[in-house]
Amino acid sequence: MIEPFLSAASVLKKIEDAGFEAYFVGGSVRDFILQKQIHDVDIASSATPEEIKRIFPKTVDIGIEHGTVLVLYNGNSYEITTFRTESEYEDFRRPKEVVFIRSLEKDLERRDFTINAMAMDVHEQIHDPFGGKESIEAREIRTVGKAEERFHEDALRMMRAVRFVSQLNFEIEAQTRKALTELGYLLEKIAIERKRAEFEKLMSGPSRKKAINIILETNLYAYLPGLENRKVELTKILSYHCDELNTNEMWSLICFSLMKTGKNAEQFLRMWRLPVKQIKEIELILNFLADRLEQEWTKYQIYSAGLHVSLAVERLYHVLNNSDSTEAIESLTNMYWSLLIKQQTDLDIAGSDLLTWFNRKPGPWIKESLFKIESAVLEGLIENDKKQIKEWLLKCNQK
Ligand code: ATP
Ligand code: MG
Repeated sequence: MIEPFLSAASVLKKIEDAGFEAYFVGGSVRDFILQKQIHDVDIASSATPEEIKRIFPKTVDIGIEHGTVLVLYNGNSYEITTFRTESEYEDFRRPKEVVFIRSLEKDLERRDFTINAMAMDVHEQIHDPFGGKESIEAREIRTVGKAEERFHEDALRMMRAVRFVSQLNFEIEAQTRKALTELGYLLEKIAIERKRAEFEKLMSGPSRKKAINIILETNLYAYLPGLENRKVELTKILSYHCDELNTNEMWSLICFSLMKTGKNAEQFLRMWRLPVKQIKEIELILNFLADRLEQEWTKYQIYSAGLHVSLAVERLYHVLNNSDSTEAIESLTNMYWSLLIKQQTDLDIAGSDLLTWFNRKPGPWIKESLFKIESAVLEGLIENDKKQIKEWLLKCNQK
């Protein structure tokens, strides 16, 4: 057995010793068969949350109503979820009632896709009642059971199907795809945060363009915030080599393609309920990108953008120009590290010095003077030295 299964095996054994069943389930089993990196293992068990809590002294109730308990064991933590069915779905969203059951197969049956509906026990036996391995061999995303029913139960599964395409470079099986094309409108009922989480994974996957293409072909885009009538602009993204961009760079590329800069971009990103901090970074990227499209970097721009945003802008610049960014990224990084100051606090003076030197009331002039000083220091006109800065400022003011 390989890690991280190996470390978790003792948890499964302990549950078995208490007379219950326990398995690794979901993404970890899928990724194991695919020989991909496994991030976290999910464990499913026939034991109820109460029974799990009796077996392990240290637990945290993280989702007890869904049957999930966090078990702290041997310095690690494990999410253990009781086998359950989700009968009677409400509003295409969440199961009305979670019923705990003792059957592994029934638990696997409620899972979204065959590739996600496999379990592995401590003896490395794979339990695969719905043909998950076959789907992996065929490289297909196929719902467990009738796609139409499964998407009616939870429409988010449609987004998940496409995000797995992006991550795995699989195809969507014909019936599943047909249902996706017909039921896209159900996505409108899904909480935006849930859609966003899947959309961001989709945009960050290695086969993101293939996934975006499916979103276009199946009309799913028509039910995504701010993308309703933007087929042309989304299609444009397919012409870019954007596979190396990170999530915020992808958001920036989408905003740019939709011609959303400044306030418009903010409005669009708010529709997706992005955290404010993330919106701010994307806005910064878009603003500096607009400058970069007009002219080469100045030292002051690199300084005010900072390394992280500068590099994002440069990568996007090259994506838009369909050119290789390797050399430009290296030279921009060197330019950044050779800047004489990296932030305002690196200056040998502060706003308070200006107040004492000039004996003036605080006002916008401070910001203006600091800007002048920063530029002069960056351009090497003066040294970053209190005395020199003062003399230079006095001289400037006499002019
Ligand atoms: P990742 O590697 O991105 O975490 P994952 O397959 O583990 O992928 P999760 O969202 O962590 O995906 O969900 C864990 C498992 O729970 C899935 O593999 C699947 O079996 C089940 N699952 C998750 N969301 C749904 C859903 N909306 N409907 C049915 N089953 C789901
Ligand atoms: Mg997971």
